[in-house]
Amino acid sequence: MSRIDLHTHSYYSDGTESPRRVVELATQAGLSAFSLTDHDTLEGHAEAETACRELGIRFIPGIEFSSSTQGVEVHMLGFLIEASHAPFRQVLARQKTRRMQRIRDIVSKLQAAGVAIEVADVLAASGKGVLGRPHVAQALLNRGHVKTLREAFDRFIGPKGPGFIHGSTTSPADAIRIIREAGGVPVLAHPVYLKNDALIEDMVRDGLAGLEVYHYSHSPGLVAQYEQMADRLGLLRTGGSDFHGNAKEGAVVGSVNISEELVERLQAWKQAHPSAS
Ligand code: AMP
Ligand code: ZN
Ligand code: FE
Ligand code: FE
Repeated sequence: MSRIDLHTHSYYSDGTESPRRVVELATQAGLSAFSLTDHDTLEGHAEAETACRELGIRFIPGIEFSSSTQGVEVHMLGFLIEASHAPFRQVLARQKTRRMQRIRDIVSKLQAAGVAIEVADVLAASGKGVLGRPHVAQALLNRGHVKTLREAFDRFIGPKGPGFIHGSTTSPADAIRIIREAGGVPVLAHPVYLKNDALIEDMVRDGLAGLEVYHYSHSPGLVAQYEQMADRLGLLRTGGSDFHGNAKEGAVVGSVNISEELVERLQAWKQAHPSAS
């Protein structure tokens, strides 16, 4: 059985490795297909796609699109998006600008709370693409305010911290619509973080196509539970490691055992649901 990984990050969002390096790791793990799903950006795709071609592994275009509702963060994976879709590119460009402004606002809030940190510290801790809280966490670590990234979230930039600002004001329903209009297949990432099954049913009514049943953080019991939920709601299943490099989040590439057959189902769904625009 061939194995795949449909959830990985590079330094174009908050991973620490280049797209090429992630593809090398996927090849070394013996995977037959791989998706790069950086937060809110497709900037790593060109490099990943070239590396996949050279190393003989199938490239599945992906993204992890940020949204929020009722005060909770909802991450929506989008697979097989058409990268040339201009409205989608505009949405991502706006989100990139918004994320830069958000860093300035988070830094201001932290400064107001008495934390010595500058925007330049965050930029120095970031990669090549979009900025996010993990870069602020790293900057707080570098400045000696915390001992771990986790502590940075718990004390400063998590929902209860003085520097918290949502990553996106887009609703999950809009995230689903935006992904589908770009020809993509919307899949709810790591449902365990949501802890709210009613919200998942809302998303199904709003056009959700799949559930990330297999995620490094899901115990075997949870996997069984989400397999049942996917069947009950008529959802596709996907899965992945959520690899972030050495950013101390996620697992190693290829560590979640899933088969390439899931990709054929994503393809079939896409063909059966031509984009609305
Ligand atoms: P952002 O989209 O900028 O709000 O950043 C969200 C990202 O921060 C998530 O995708 C995780 O990678 C990371 N993250 C969120 N909460 C935590 C936490 N408690 N500890 C470590 N990383 C976290
Ligand atoms: Zn991340
Ligand atoms: Fe996520
Ligand atoms: Fe992720």
